[in-house]
Amino acid sequence: MTDDVAVVGAGLTGCLLACYLARRGHQVVLYERRPDPRTGVAERGRSINLAISERGLDALRRVGLEERVMADALPMRGRMIHARSGEVSLQPYSADGTRAINSISRGALNNTLLDAAESASGVSVRFEHRLTGLDTGTGELTFATPDGETHAKARVVFGADGAGSAVRGQLLAQEGVDETLDFLDHGYKELTIPSVDGEFALDPGALHIWPRGTSMMIALPNPDRSFTCTLFWPTGGTESFASLSSPAAIERHFRDYYPDLVPLAPNLVEDYLANPVGLLGTVHCTPWQAGGTVCLIGDAAHAIVPFYGQGANCGFEDVVVLDRCLDETDTWAQALPLFERRRKVHTDAIADMALDNFVEMRDKVASPVFRFTKAVEHALERALPGRYVSRYELVSFSTVPYADVRRRVRRQQRAVGGIAALLAGGITAAACLRRAGQ
Ligand SMILES: Cc1cc2nc3c(=O)[nH]c(=O)nc-3n(C[C@H](O)[C@H](O)[C@H](O)COP(=O)(O)OP(=O)(O)OC[C@H]3O[C@@H](n4cnc5c(N)ncnc54)[C@H](O)[C@@H]3O)c2cc1C
Repeated sequence: MTDDVAVVGAGLTGCLLACYLARRGHQVVLYERRPDPRTGVAERGRSINLAISERGLDALRRVGLEERVMADALPMRGRMIHARSGEVSLQPYSADGTRAINSISRGALNNTLLDAAESASGVSVRFEHRLTGLDTGTGELTFATPDGETHAKARVVFGADGAGSAVRGQLLAQEGVDETLDFLDHGYKELTIPSVDGEFALDPGALHIWPRGTSMMIALPNPDRSFTCTLFWPTGGTESFASLSSPAAIERHFRDYYPDLVPLAPNLVEDYLANPVGLLGTVHCTPWQAGGTVCLIGDAAHAIVPFYGQGANCGFEDVVVLDRCLDETDTWAQALPLFERRRKVHTDAIADMALDNFVEMRDKVASPVFRFTKAVEHALERALPGRYVSRYELVSFSTVPYADVRRRVRRQQRAVGGIAALLAGGITAAACLRRAGQ
């Protein structure tokens, strides 16, 4: 039998996509290589929480899922910078200090989305189905399962199977898709700060950052009052994950670079030794679709580095854009190329901005010049509401398309650069920015 739509990958993007397609009346089968995560134990050391912001929330809101997802979210209103001296300082994300990004458990989010997809009329989920083959012309799918190989067929196949997408691999082999994978020198490792007497050991209203130049650590709060820390560091070289292996050396390193962490993380050495080093990179590929029958979405199409906290938000926004393309067209053959044309320029833009933000987070946030620039930026935002909006606010607290954010920020920067000269000529900053916003 031929299914209407097959979605490969029941991760964050795949589950939300199934909800949206079901709403349009499609019969959807979601195929997932893992066992049902709602019955098992979470994978160790793999990004257990995520920052979800306006783009993700907007996509969830449109299918009535925002409240369920936000029930356990912890709002983070700024960056708490931890200097090597132990001194801490808060940098609010928004000019009025009230806007927040939300720390959400990846596992709980995935489970909520799985529940929503499974309860949507027309969706069924097949766990322990790892895609091993796909005929991109006929939509014939082959899966490895615990009971051996099995086959299915679908009119349209979505690859929502993450950065290492098997569907992308099949497009590469059969359709001449072009792919580049740019891995960072830096990998990541997760560590934990447990609660202390049932309370958070650090302020739970902020995203904590320990900027250390070549390395950086961040910590996000969890509903159980622990924090998940992610240490970003080169994978190889003299100062790297590879250079640190004995318990004594690990302890010495953290005492030296992250002295305020050590008393808060009693299992630091065990976590460091037990948790894997994850790789980070950017996936660019084109085209994302073939023949109006196979299409990539989410990380499978455009995985990015996590330094803007946008990967999942961006995958969710993909689903909204695809839904609009389906509204505006009559056939999959029209909708899928339109989706790629509309979306790729924006996913390319956030991929670049995410790389830029790595430098900002690990280096610049600690500098007095950066703090002064942020203060000036927030003052401009308060003085010129709606006309001057920082890049961070546009990316995290709006749904302005990513490439438009980049263009607008460049215009603003040019305008701000010209303000002093224009003021000298008697022209106000407001008029200058009004012109830049046109
Ligand atoms: C350290 C780190 C921190 C991050 N922080 C944030 C953040 O704060 N905010 C944010 O928005 N994003 C963040 N991200 C990015 C975010 O995790 C991803 O963008 C998001 O998970 C992408 O969702 P996806 O559904 O497209 O892919 P995935 O989440 O990778 O899901 C893919 C699914 O496909 C399944 N699958 C894979 N291969 C097959 C196969 N052959 N057959 C069947 N199923 C298969 C997988 O098991 C998985 O369930 C972070 C990423 C990292 C690494």
